[in-house]
Amino acid sequence: MDYYLECVENGCRFPSSYNKQICGNCGSILEVIYKGKAKVPASHEFWDYEALLPKGKYKHYSLGGTKLVQSAECNNLFLKLELYNPTRSFKDRGSVVEIAKALEYGYDEISVASTGNMAYSLAYYAKIAGFKATVFIGKAANPDKIRNILMTHDATLHMVTGDFSKAQAMAAKYAEKSSAFLAGDYCYRKEGQKTVAYEIATQLNGLTHIIVPVGNATLISGMVKALKEMKMNGVKIIAVQAEKCSPLVKAFRSKKMMKYERPGTKADAIAVGLPTFGDQALKAINDTGGTAITVTESEMEKEQSYLYKSQGILAELAGVASIAAFKKLKFKQNDRVAAIISGGNI
Ligand SMILES: [Zn+2]
Repeated sequence: MDYYLECVENGCRFPSSYNKQICGNCGSILEVIYKGKAKVPASHEFWDYEALLPKGKYKHYSLGGTKLVQSAECNNLFLKLELYNPTRSFKDRGSVVEIAKALEYGYDEISVASTGNMAYSLAYYAKIAGFKATVFIGKAANPDKIRNILMTHDATLHMVTGDFSKAQAMAAKYAEKSSAFLAGDYCYRKEGQKTVAYEIATQLNGLTHIIVPVGNATLISGMVKALKEMKMNGVKIIAVQAEKCSPLVKAFRSKKMMKYERPGTKADAIAVGLPTFGDQALKAINDTGGTAITVTESEMEKEQSYLYKSQGILAELAGVASIAAFKKLKFKQNDRVAAIISGGNI
């Protein structure tokens, strides 16, 4: 769809031909604002939603359209199996939008910071599309994910002393210096990731709540955007973070500004000390009447083990944070709750 970009801090506007994801005037993140309205199709196939994505040079890779299955344990809990995307996380949805835009703008290199899954996903699609991928990852990242990126997709990897926030700053600096497309948790990725909510809406009649693991908060912000586009005003959004890295939950509870927190969780996919889309996500949670909750390391470990034993689904710790959160909250018998199983790279 035709669109323009607007920065969230000061409302600076750019046409869709602006080839960056950060405001050139004030450095703020941008938001995609559509010029028209498209009808949301009743489908759970990713490419059926192309008309609701920013216009770009899309290649129709196979992704999305993931299953929503009932939990073996709770009748009113449904699991959205995002770990069955091609690189085993929801990140693939955002990656194909970023690749389509980078192709349109004529880049030949992509720069990205990641805790693991995003770089794995982008490196995969970059390779297919013929881009060079340069990746920045904190030294504490999961070694299995680093191996995936290196061995499978020929990406150039920079190990950063520090966490995701530091890596993100370095990826942005590199993109500026090397004329690479800065990809990652920015506006185009958010548009791709909103398709998770479109799919759930067609898969679950009577949907009342969606539980979303939060790292950089791009997924949760995208999902709320999708709910608004579908005019599904009654669905509550619940954010879940690891207790050992919960800047968003603390800000939600205290009603104060979000503060950086050094990540101490083993759930590496949500180990983000200061979420890029944190402020947007907080507003979104409040707008839907939702809540934000933490889960412990052992609660995630227990759910990971149980999900594998009961349903044969092998998810990473961040991927089952949503199930652990479900069990700590009180739902009514007729609530219909979707939990995002965000990834399975272990
Ligand atoms: Zn601006």
